[in-house]
Amino acid sequence: MSINLSDPIFHNDDAARAHLEAIRWPEGPFCPHCGNSDQSRIRKLAGKSTRPGLHQCNECREHFTVTVGTVMERSKIPLHKWVAAFHLMNASKKGMSAHQLHRMLGITYKSAWFLAHRVREAMADTDTTPMGGEGQSIQADETYYGNSKRAKSYKKGHRHKNKVVALVEPQGRVRAFKVEKANMETVREILVTNAHRASELHTDESPLYTQVGKEFAAHKTVEHGWNQRGYYVGSDGQTTNNVENFFGIFKRGMKGVYHFCSEQHLQRYLNEFSFRYSNRSGLGVNDGERAALAIKNAAGKRLTYRQPH
Ligand SMILES: [Zn+2]
Repeated sequence: MSINLSDPIFHNDDAARAHLEAIRWPEGPFCPHCGNSDQSRIRKLAGKSTRPGLHQCNECREHFTVTVGTVMERSKIPLHKWVAAFHLMNASKKGMSAHQLHRMLGITYKSAWFLAHRVREAMADTDTTPMGGEGQSIQADETYYGNSKRAKSYKKGHRHKNKVVALVEPQGRVRAFKVEKANMETVREILVTNAHRASELHTDESPLYTQVGKEFAAHKTVEHGWNQRGYYVGSDGQTTNNVENFFGIFKRGMKGVYHFCSEQHLQRYLNEFSFRYSNRSGLGVNDGERAALAIKNAAGKRLTYRQPH
């Protein structure tokens, strides 16, 4: 993890605010209420009784700061701690637990828990452009993780586990979905809504993909059994290594850092791991750039959690 923790953005609210403004407003502030970005029609308010960073829009007369309309809005957690959380969660490969954030940031465990979920919300993928494309491949696979709430006690087999389906572009993004049932209908729905049909589909030999595979430019499979353990590339270059690699990172991180999670929150953790994977260092995105992308992505998210304290 390459974070310079002595950076003022992690200790000083003015520096943190300037950091957020530089990322969210590269062309200068814009009004989150009416969308006005005419700099001559936006005024920064100053004065002792004014909240720091407050702006007024001369189009709609509303006031705003850099956090309005983002997951940070109305939070009582100091901005520099938000900035630290964004950077910590984006720099650590396996994530950062609420306990770690609680200790590192000196906030209550409960606040840290909300904070982490808000940052996860910011890391949720909003990109709806189709994955893959002509001449490109997409790997699809499913995995089973933890026990769903229907499982009263440990049972053998996959039926009572949470099911996750993921699509991976070998040189790019991942999208992972918690699904109720890993069946042909679900898998097809995910594939046709997320993947470009001109792509080549790579999967294992699971019958889940046989039908939908026909809707793609080509469907190539790798032998099941081989890819349980390690790496296998079919004679035509087809592989599911990348998607298995993603599942491996996810499961190791969940086990090591988060000690598993409830079914209710599984999609949020998938979003977090997917975000780091889709913006990984292997694709030329460094830790600071990844955190900045998450901060950019913090706007326009549905706020489904109570505000942190
Ligand atoms: Zn406005």
